[in-house]
Amino acid sequence: MTAEIICVGTELLLGDILNTNARFLARELAELGIDLLHQQVVGDNAARLEKLVREAKGRSDLLIFSGGLGPTADDLTKETVARCFNDELVFEPSVMQSINAYFLATGRSTPKNNEKQAMVPQKGGWFANPNGTAPAVWFREGAKYAVLLPGPPRELEPLWSGAVRPMLQRDQQRVLHSLVLRVAGVGESHAEELVGHLFQSENPTAAIYAKTGEVHIRITAAAPTNMEAKAMCRAYAQKFYALLGDAVYGEGEDGLENVLVKTLAKKNLTVATAESCTGGLVAQRITAVPGSSEVFGFGFVTYANAAKRQLLGVDPMTLAECGAVSPQVAAQMAAGAQKAAGASLAVALTGVAGPGGGTEEKPVGLVWLGAAKGKTVFVKELRFGPRSRESIRWMAASAALDAARRLAAGLPIPGAEAWDKTEKGKP
Ligand code: ATP
Ligand code: MG
Repeated sequence: MTAEIICVGTELLLGDILNTNARFLARELAELGIDLLHQQVVGDNAARLEKLVREAKGRSDLLIFSGGLGPTADDLTKETVARCFNDELVFEPSVMQSINAYFLATGRSTPKNNEKQAMVPQKGGWFANPNGTAPAVWFREGAKYAVLLPGPPRELEPLWSGAVRPMLQRDQQRVLHSLVLRVAGVGESHAEELVGHLFQSENPTAAIYAKTGEVHIRITAAAPTNMEAKAMCRAYAQKFYALLGDAVYGEGEDGLENVLVKTLAKKNLTVATAESCTGGLVAQRITAVPGSSEVFGFGFVTYANAAKRQLLGVDPMTLAECGAVSPQVAAQMAAGAQKAAGASLAVALTGVAGPGGGTEEKPVGLVWLGAAKGKTVFVKELRFGPRSRESIRWMAASAALDAARRLAAGLPIPGAEAWDKTEKGKP
């Protein structure tokens, strides 16, 4: 089945509001395995809308509309699409009753305008809107479908999930189940190399999404029952685990910080942070997780060399000889934070976030990660290349969270060098 999304609204066209409905609907269609061919935005103008609807209807099976179902004169979507699908709108008393009830509940009487919202397709159908006055409606002509949803996301999303999506699934006689694998420490192109062949499959389908500092893999299976679809996803996920191993840090909604806090709590460990170029971002992400106070008490923001010396005990000689962005300083920062906090683990970051301040030897995007556990300090060079200050900081923070997660779980940190803290010549 092929589909198009048409969002109606002058505010949308002129950029006054962000088109989050298109994003929501596009993702939902992808999950349903429906091929999305076009997305369009059109102002509140009946003639232009009609032209667009006729074009879209000519080339796609399913048209999804958002917006323009309100009570005012500029809300024209329903009337226009009805014309294009050779249907008529008829007054539906039960919709009128629920609109009246909606206004009564807010202590108002129904404005005359709103009667227009009780008009529904004669041949098509409608779905009651529990969060507003405009019902969702659908039209059908031959094999062509149109589904019209109200613009406000808090009305559109529940109508979609509660009524439209189940209708489309019934139509396709199958249910879908998805599973998201979250991968850290492996870039998108490297992941493609390792598991690229697994994205060719038709059912389950698998797709890769590059996020800043991590990669998500969404596996979706279609089957007659949910149980079968779930089992298919699980079996397919095993293929990814076999190739990516412990780079898969979790499944579903939980981010790196959530997984880290859970792992620390389970193992009865604590973590401290020492941050230069990220200025507290690692600590911020850890403390965004509810319950993190059990595992996190100390985060040091040591932006200046003086702070690295005074708070973490970094050796002034090391700073002078190696510079702040160096493996030696990263190691001493981690060891210093671990000691000062009395924590089981510590992670540290020092790097060049840019846009200025890069040199040939220490370019923008170079970050040294330090991670301490017991008597060992690990150091790892991270090179994020020239990209925005914001993404360098975010990616460095993600690398530190991942290193902490690995230490907490007893896993190695790939590419890191281990130094014994007591060893001479090493910090
Ligand atoms: P209403 O009854 O509120 O007029 P409607 O179905 O006519 O609903 P619009 O008038 O197009 O919808 O939009 C109403 C509000 O919904 C907008 O002001 C905006 O806040 C939100 N909205 C509309 N379209 C979108 C969209 N594509 N993405 C996100 N929000 C949207
Ligand atoms: Mg409106």
